[in-house]
Amino acid sequence: MRLGAHMSAAGGLHEAFKRGHEAGCDSMLVFTKSNRQWAAKPITPDDVEKYRQAQANYSHIFPVAVHASYLINIASPDEALWEKSYKALRDEVERAAAFDIPLLTFHPGSYMDGDETTGIAQIARALRRLLADTAPSVTICLETMAGQGTNLGRTFDHLAAMLDGADRHERLGVCFDTCHVFAAGYDIRTPAAYEQTLAEFDKVIGLEWIKCFHFNDSQHELGSRKDRHEHIGDGHIGREGFANFVNDPRWANHAAHLETPKTEKDADGKEIDMDVENLRRLRELVRGSGD
Ligand SMILES: [Zn+2]
Ligand SMILES: [Zn+2]
Repeated sequence: MRLGAHMSAAGGLHEAFKRGHEAGCDSMLVFTKSNRQWAAKPITPDDVEKYRQAQANYSHIFPVAVHASYLINIASPDEALWEKSYKALRDEVERAAAFDIPLLTFHPGSYMDGDETTGIAQIARALRRLLADTAPSVTICLETMAGQGTNLGRTFDHLAAMLDGADRHERLGVCFDTCHVFAAGYDIRTPAAYEQTLAEFDKVIGLEWIKCFHFNDSQHELGSRKDRHEHIGDGHIGREGFANFVNDPRWANHAAHLETPKTEKDADGKEIDMDVENLRRLRELVRGSGD
């Protein structure tokens, strides 16, 4: 698999490549704007040029994927917030297209004081408009969610309904987050549980819709519906769970990105780069990788 992590774009998106290289990424996940603000500085030709140069210098890092802002909620029953969210998501797709980034993942959203059915209908409405309004180069991925509060995307049925509502358009896909799927109640810890969960995904959605992964262990138990990421092997999924993914030939060319805490302190209080450590743990699980 093309393993990587979320990389900071502080100082410009091009700077993420250097950081990704130092962490040992084969691919990486980025924000093209602040993930907790609606507004963004427009992208300049200079930004794009610097990005292209960095991409050429670090051509072993691909694909790059964008994570959209956490503020976006296209499931909202509030029309003003829905419209604001729609425009922000459209902007995210256009920003990704400006850098020629092929993948964008976003959280489907929360139905708030509405209900599941109307929430999913709101999402489908936004997706149909988005597909008509944006450049065709970006694949838009709905992320599997843990199901906190009124979060949609917790079940494979939710995601299938969202895709169906947008006519299963070829520019759509699913980003499979291991922590979220596990917290939502789908077991992936043993080879048998993993195969059963994937068979369920295949039946309800279709495995071909999985375009990328987020690799996070889970601080909470199976079915907790709590979204708290843990380092690989230190949570309730455990190393064997990740071994199922990294050794599955179906995902050999898929990107998988860590969204785990960046640093920890060792016993002597020295800072450890946890992206380096988590990538090392994942690569150690690949069979035939040595000892
Ligand atoms: Zn994620
Ligand atoms: Zn999460």
